[in-house]
Amino acid sequence: MQKPILSKSTFIRGLQCEKSLYLYKHRYNLKDETPAQLQAIFDQGTNVGILAQQLFPNGVDASPSSHFKMQESVFKTHEFIKNDYPIIYEATFQFNGVLAALDVLVKDNDGWKAYEVKSSTSVSETYINDAAIQYYSIVNSGIDLKDISIVYINNQYVKNGTINIHELFTIESVFDRVQEVLTHIPEQVEKLKQVIKQEEIPNIDIGAHCDTPYSCDFKGHCWKHIPEYSIFDIANLWTSKKFQLYEKGITSFDQIDLDNNHLNANQLLQVSSELNNAKQIDKKNISIFLKDLSYPLYFLDFETMGSAIPIYDNTRPYQQFVFQYSLHILPEENGVLSHSDYLAETATNEDPRIGFIKQLINDCGTFGDILVYNIGFERGKLNDLIELFPQYANEINNIINRLKDLMIPFQKRWYYTPEMKGSYSIKYVLPALVPDLSYQDLEIKEGGTASTVFAQMANGGFTGDYEKTRMNLLEYCKLDTYAMVKIFKVLNKICNV
Ligand code: SF4
Repeated sequence: MQKPILSKSTFIRGLQCEKSLYLYKHRYNLKDETPAQLQAIFDQGTNVGILAQQLFPNGVDASPSSHFKMQESVFKTHEFIKNDYPIIYEATFQFNGVLAALDVLVKDNDGWKAYEVKSSTSVSETYINDAAIQYYSIVNSGIDLKDISIVYINNQYVKNGTINIHELFTIESVFDRVQEVLTHIPEQVEKLKQVIKQEEIPNIDIGAHCDTPYSCDFKGHCWKHIPEYSIFDIANLWTSKKFQLYEKGITSFDQIDLDNNHLNANQLLQVSSELNNAKQIDKKNISIFLKDLSYPLYFLDFETMGSAIPIYDNTRPYQQFVFQYSLHILPEENGVLSHSDYLAETATNEDPRIGFIKQLINDCGTFGDILVYNIGFERGKLNDLIELFPQYANEINNIINRLKDLMIPFQKRWYYTPEMKGSYSIKYVLPALVPDLSYQDLEIKEGGTASTVFAQMANGGFTGDYEKTRMNLLEYCKLDTYAMVKIFKVLNKICNV
């Protein structure tokens, strides 16, 4: 059998950017490394696909022995169909140099039906193109396909006991939508095949397509000419506006005409502060903010997780819920700082929120302000807990009523330095105010990783050192609240409060 030229994923890649397709085929070494977070999303997708097979039990598996031997799958699929197997997992077809694998192929009384599983919660335009290239390969391989559907996650499903896969998944026929785009497929296939055959790298400049629908993994190569800190880092500036500047040859801040642009006040501050290496400090407003705080002061930070397949009862797919917190307590000005934390056990499969809320109520006492960074997040999670544990409503409401937001001085730009790079996230504020304190030495450096690692530990997919990783999680969250204490102290010092 002739070697395939396009697969379903390279077809989608080519639709996004022909240069990306070409580089993938001929300059694979230029591809960026896959970030661990993205790999975790891919792994989650694989698990969802395997679970969804249970919607159509007792199928035969046409998977190849290795990813590089897809022809094996084409052969197995052919044999399974010939031998009248009604349910085939990873059914794979090849037509006109296009190879497309499908999650489940089913034959019932109406005929053959195709099912493609996605771990997202809706059907996107890309999924229609995805289904269309599958339909094209399957039908042209001689299968009279009666229907094609996307199987995706129902985010309203609430787990209660064993996962009910029929409630967890939604099956939506996309047959009619596929027919609408199908007429373009042969022409697109031919065009992309020509792209692969050409001698030169397609001459395509960077643009909004680099992130739509997916973040391209050749950005490290194509975006090399963009300065490390550039107009693309201007906070809250529309992508279209950034590319308007780029098309005028403007990439660095010093090329921006500050008198003739459409930047708002905060964006202008970001640019001018960088150019002049200037700080903006509004001591008056910072002092008012600080004087309004009542000791003992608590510095609190939550970590949350969510997964496509809910792990705990009373959670929905992708619902973010708390599993860890760190709390530093400053009893009085110049008092001795103490620390407490909570990290749910994963060995017991007990809902992490139960231990969390009991210990938090205990640790927070009944008076004194509780400083968080981005109040909407912690307040939202506490309100979720009230809904689930109404018996603790009074205590949780006491905590909510004492919350104060340490992000405000930075969000309102009462304190701004060039190092913040237009952001008021603690990850930018900390190095600006407390340069000797850094996340860089930690094993876990950001919340996304903490969430992924905990989810893996909770669902049994974790293969690392359990105790060491728990320590890493505790260290990471502890630094979040210690950073808040240090930031608070810097603000105090500036204002001599
Ligand atoms: S980074 Fe942009 S221009 Fe380069 S290959 Fe990817 S999508 Fe195309």
